[in-house]
Amino acid sequence: MTGARRGLPFVVSAPSGTGKTTVCHRLVSEDADLGLSVSHTTRSPRPGERDGIDYHFVPREQFERLVRDGAFLEHAEYRGNLYGTSRAAVEAPLAAGRDLLLEIEVQGARQLRSRLPEARFVFLLPPSRAELERRLRARGTESEDVIERRLEVAAQELPEVLRYDYAVVNDEIDAAVGRVLDIVRCERAGRRDEVEARYGPAHVLAGIGGIAALLGTR
Ligand code: 5GP
Repeated sequence: MTGARRGLPFVVSAPSGTGKTTVCHRLVSEDADLGLSVSHTTRSPRPGERDGIDYHFVPREQFERLVRDGAFLEHAEYRGNLYGTSRAAVEAPLAAGRDLLLEIEVQGARQLRSRLPEARFVFLLPPSRAELERRLRARGTESEDVIERRLEVAAQELPEVLRYDYAVVNDEIDAAVGRVLDIVRCERAGRRDEVEARYGPAHVLAGIGGIAALLGTR
């Protein structure tokens, strides 16, 4: 087979509470040519999560064996659990010409810059520190300690946005989904310059008061 188009991988990262999972699910339901990569994890399933669909849930020993066998394109430890993208999860869809979203945290994304060089990197931002705090509290399920810890982790992750190709503010879900779809469609059409001008991280950050506003340091 010659000339078949290889799928484009889009890495999506965001601090906890930014609404990344909701945005990613909406994206794949609105764009039939976009799939979601299924990661492996050692964490326990949450209510409603299904093995093989939301994640491949595996015991730590099995995950470590897969690491030794070289099965992962990237992997990282996050909040005490291991997460990884298997080569199989991305290779088959990309080879079949399907575009793919990889919802992963920032350490894994760093590994992919060299291992999946054709990937484009999208960072979802909360509109402000106050809104991030409000969303974390609104879940109503976590203790004050856990919320404080998540805010600390978010503060460490946010500056990573500068290493991403695109920044998208999730102020309102429909608008955020529309912006990521705009990025995906422009990338597919080879209109990268146009979309970089709209969603380049420096440009987007300038519009919301800079990284200091997000970190709550001013
Ligand atoms: P959760 O446990 O809330 O589903 O995910 C925790 C974090 O792990 C999120 O930031 C999520 O994006 C990230 N994550 C999910 N799958 C992977 C993966 O395959 N690799 C890496 N590095 N992070 C992942």
